[in-house]
Amino acid sequence: MTDKHKTYALALHGGAGAQKGRDYSRAETHLAELADKGNAMLAAGESAVDVVEHMVREMEASGLYVAGRGSAANSAGYVELDAAIMDGTGRNAGAVAAIRDAKHPISAARALMDKTPYVMLAGDGATKFAAKQGLETVEDPDEYYTLPDGTTAEDMASETLAHGTVGAVALDTDGRLAAATSTGGVFGKPEGRLGDTPINGVGNWADNEVAISCTGVGEYFILSGGASMVAGGVKLAGDSLEKAVWRLLDDVKSLNGDGGVIAVNKAGEIVMAYNSDGMKRASVSSNTPAKATTFEPCR
Ligand code: ASP
Repeated sequence: MTDKHKTYALALHGGAGAQKGRDYSRAETHLAELADKGNAMLAAGESAVDVVEHMVREMEASGLYVAGRGSAANSAGYVELDAAIMDGTGRNAGAVAAIRDAKHPISAARALMDKTPYVMLAGDGATKFAAKQGLETVEDPDEYYTLPDGTTAEDMASETLAHGTVGAVALDTDGRLAAATSTGGVFGKPEGRLGDTPINGVGNWADNEVAISCTGVGEYFILSGGASMVAGGVKLAGDSLEKAVWRLLDDVKSLNGDGGVIAVNKAGEIVMAYNSDGMKRASVSSNTPAKATTFEPCR
């Protein structure tokens, strides 16, 4: 017998760029399957950081979301990706920004966290680091990248900052929290554009009380302070997790932005909230079965 307590929780998102009237059933089915898999991993005692990395790798590989395989080229015609991971236990973090040719940017972020004293690498340095780690690379971008679920070629050409991201937050049976987020960013972005996703503290965060992953037009999340505002609300202002999440989303709204947040706390409470049209998402915990949805109201 171990002395593990039994509570665990997992939330996933596939981006808050979902648009009303579109069909995201493939992504919802995929998210529900992933939640089941994550449930099994957490129930078996796997660590929160391993589970969130695994969940994000699967979403990156699926081509169903704007991350990894489902990412679009920037305005110069090539794909640049961002990802961040954070292990709340011991407050460790890693991130890669504007990385190229990596099949799993989240694993490059994880390797940076685990194997170096650095927390963020960008551009060529990030790309070379991932290759040196022996991580899988994209050999033929034209063949590999694909339009994500529910997205049209017109979306890719849109100037309205259409976007998507994937993220996962988890509490494991040892009470550890972790968050992971990965994105192809906004469609038609200029070379070198970074949003909130690769910035731990803004698009992604985990400490010993909460784990958070954000999605939405990253510029607004940067201007609002992002995920660490949620953590601050809980820790410093004594907010409930839900109140802290809405404090951030309402601030993003006040700047004319929108988006979504998934969060879990050390008690296993899950919040999945958005003020865009919809957010592809799923959750599961030691007390609740896996469920995926996109447009179901969250408030
Ligand atoms: N936050 C991402 C970015 O701005 C996009 C998204 O979440 O949909 O790059």
